[in-house]
Amino acid sequence: MAGGDFTPPASSLLKFDPMSSDRYPFREIEAKWQRIWEERGQFRAVEDPRRPKFYCLEMFPYPSGRIHMGHVRVYAIGDLLARFKRMRGFNVLHPMGWDAFGLPAENAAIEHGVHPAIWTYENIDNMRGQLRKLGISYDWDREVTTCDPAYYKWEQLIFIRMLERGLAYRRRSTVNWCPSCQTVLANEQVEAGRCWRCDSEVTPREIDGWFFKITAYADELLEWCDKLPGWPERVLTMQRNWIGRSEGAEFDLPVAGRPELKVRVFTTRPDTAFGMTYAVLAPEHPLVDRLIADEDERRAVTAFRAEVARQSEIERLAADRPKRGLRISARVVNPFNNVEIPLFIADYVLMGYGTGSIMAVPGEDQRDWEFAKQHALPIIETVQRPPGWVGEAYSGDGLKINSGFLDGLTVAAAKRRAIDWLVERGLGVAKVNYRLRDWGISRQRYWGAPIPVLYCDKDGVVPEDEKNLPVVLPRDVQLSGKGGSPLADVASFVNARCPKCGGKARRETDTMDTFVESSWYFLRYCSPHYERGMFERAAAEYWMPVDQYIGGIEHAVLHLLYARFYTKVLRDLDMVAVDEPFTALLSQGMVIKDGAKMSKSKGNVVDPDDLIRTLGADTARLFSLFAAPPEKDLDWNDHGVEGASRFLNRVWRFVIAHAEDLKAAPATAAPTTAAGTAFRRTVHETIAKATQDIERDFHFNTAISAVMELVNALYAFEAASHDDMPAGERAALLREAVETTLLLLGPIAPHVTEELWAQLGHTESLFSRPWPEADPAALVKNEVTLVVQVDGKVRSRLNITVGTPEERIQRLALADDRVQPWVRERAVERVVVVANRLVNIVTRA
Ligand SMILES: [Zn+2]
Ligand SMILES: [Zn+2]
Repeated sequence: MAGGDFTPPASSLLKFDPMSSDRYPFREIEAKWQRIWEERGQFRAVEDPRRPKFYCLEMFPYPSGRIHMGHVRVYAIGDLLARFKRMRGFNVLHPMGWDAFGLPAENAAIEHGVHPAIWTYENIDNMRGQLRKLGISYDWDREVTTCDPAYYKWEQLIFIRMLERGLAYRRRSTVNWCPSCQTVLANEQVEAGRCWRCDSEVTPREIDGWFFKITAYADELLEWCDKLPGWPERVLTMQRNWIGRSEGAEFDLPVAGRPELKVRVFTTRPDTAFGMTYAVLAPEHPLVDRLIADEDERRAVTAFRAEVARQSEIERLAADRPKRGLRISARVVNPFNNVEIPLFIADYVLMGYGTGSIMAVPGEDQRDWEFAKQHALPIIETVQRPPGWVGEAYSGDGLKINSGFLDGLTVAAAKRRAIDWLVERGLGVAKVNYRLRDWGISRQRYWGAPIPVLYCDKDGVVPEDEKNLPVVLPRDVQLSGKGGSPLADVASFVNARCPKCGGKARRETDTMDTFVESSWYFLRYCSPHYERGMFERAAAEYWMPVDQYIGGIEHAVLHLLYARFYTKVLRDLDMVAVDEPFTALLSQGMVIKDGAKMSKSKGNVVDPDDLIRTLGADTARLFSLFAAPPEKDLDWNDHGVEGASRFLNRVWRFVIAHAEDLKAAPATAAPTTAAGTAFRRTVHETIAKATQDIERDFHFNTAISAVMELVNALYAFEAASHDDMPAGERAALLREAVETTLLLLGPIAPHVTEELWAQLGHTESLFSRPWPEADPAALVKNEVTLVVQVDGKVRSRLNITVGTPEERIQRLALADDRVQPWVRERAVERVVVVANRLVNIVTRA
């Protein structure tokens, strides 16, 4: 049964005495409504082409064992939007699942001897229970767990398809190795030379591994950064920088006396070529060996290489350290002016970037400038410095100098001219370079999806036969945490038959990076039980793309870039029609306490379970949404939590105390009195503000403030006597205000509002009601406040009806009690009325 009306049996309507306690009975209410929503299948999503869809998704959690306040915050945001959109008429998909492979499970196995699968599934059970207590509107029928072979089977199939198309490949490379995690890290997983997960220092290592060719999509990934207006600009900027596109030229520097040997260089500044005073090869550049003149030089090069090998890639690229270099005997020729220049090998040039060699232009490049100074090399300026310039290398604009045929041009014009010059002479080409590297997906770990290939002596690398998928991760394995892939020791796994020749073959023992699983889980949610493919095309076409994605800024590069890439690969495999997976992204800030991120080591953790037990899930949700705008860090404070609880109690007491009157009140309110009109305007202004704050700006905190003010107005209106107001008008206005409050508060604090809604006699769910619309007639302001000035000083204020004639306004202003003392003794020269704003009285001095 999906949604629809539901009449609770009379016995399920709890009886409450408003005076019985300080706190409303949140424990009973929350359990009751979680059960009823579940029984009704109220949040089950069913494709319905007649209704507009809204796919609301929070980044799925790693099942570490317990949810923390950061989880509460992001799921409260997601649930607010999901329930809000449902009430706005959308067919909402709001699923939840588990990013279940990964290192902590394996580390737990090593430390405590519990199998990663048992550890993971127990954690999932715990966390699911905790999430249910928060009352989030998930369609639990769509729960996805990535360590399930029924899940990873499909990414194994896609791996084979990518292999066939050259989008997955194997090569030897220098990798970032975390000695503590005993695994390879992607460049994105290295932060300031340290492992992103355990903070150990990362070291380089040569290793064979599998790669996804994300660089084939560099241009498209970059282009689409300009076509995602729903994403935060800072996330797009981080992605653009990560892709790091640079335009320039690639050309050869012939070796002096041996023109058949050439050093190929890439530069983004071909305009500076006349300032080239030396060139540099990466120490590991293959050309170096061919340039060595004698044994002495060979020994020097070998020693230098050994020295460089002790540094990590990150250290070599660091700006703030001396650059080591070795001058070799060979020299190269600058083709722009045929000048011979010295050649170095140096640690600041890396083989994996560009061509592994550079032309050095110390006048305009800071790293080259530092190296030139350290090695007493000449520096030639090729750009006119601005007046008063004192500095080292100059990378700004200006007119070219000391540059032959480029003299007098601007930097941009000289770049184009220099490239044309190279191309005309067949010496070089215009070239685009990227900082983005291919995605290394091999992990020497157990708890991941097996890579579905085998190694056969006869056939080489052979993909597993599709009908043998999934390649299931074996259960019996010894995990020591030391050495290479644990799967290599599982003979029953390693020794297999070659799918091609039937002979003996060895299985690949690396597993896939867990970022592969999180690159497509949003597609699996569209048809999680589908058995004939990764997802059912029609379901994916209906739900995709995700309309609102919500998750932490720490995923601005890694996960989000991989998911975008993987979606494009699936599109090009003709599996889905979308170009991008996520239309809009909201990156929420962290939850901090006492100035630091909540963490066990800092001892500042607030356990969501404790909070739910003592004050209720609705209070936890309300506080999370109210304490800060979502993109900002949320500073935890107990007073704020208490305040959220008090507010819900205040709403509770009002509704319970007046429930009988409210039930009996007329359903529509059409005020005839000034006080009634003003109150109804407050109600509808609140609707307009809350709707705009939620929908347009994600300013949930200001939307909640507006509802809090409405509740204050509600109490004040109820307390006032309103002698001139018909009783029916008063009751109808109160009812409209109370029901509006519950509807606006529903997506924020769903349990208490649903209960109060039922207490008002409604038999259908609050969440099957449409979101309230602001009545334009109620918003019309028919009274304005005018400031009255006498000789430029504010003396009074006048409340008048809009459209009052100017003469009458003048008379009212002059007769005003607080104006009279300032005009009584003096001659009024003129009275100026600025419509709806101001009355200015000018007297004769
Ligand atoms: Zn590590
Ligand atoms: Zn074979």
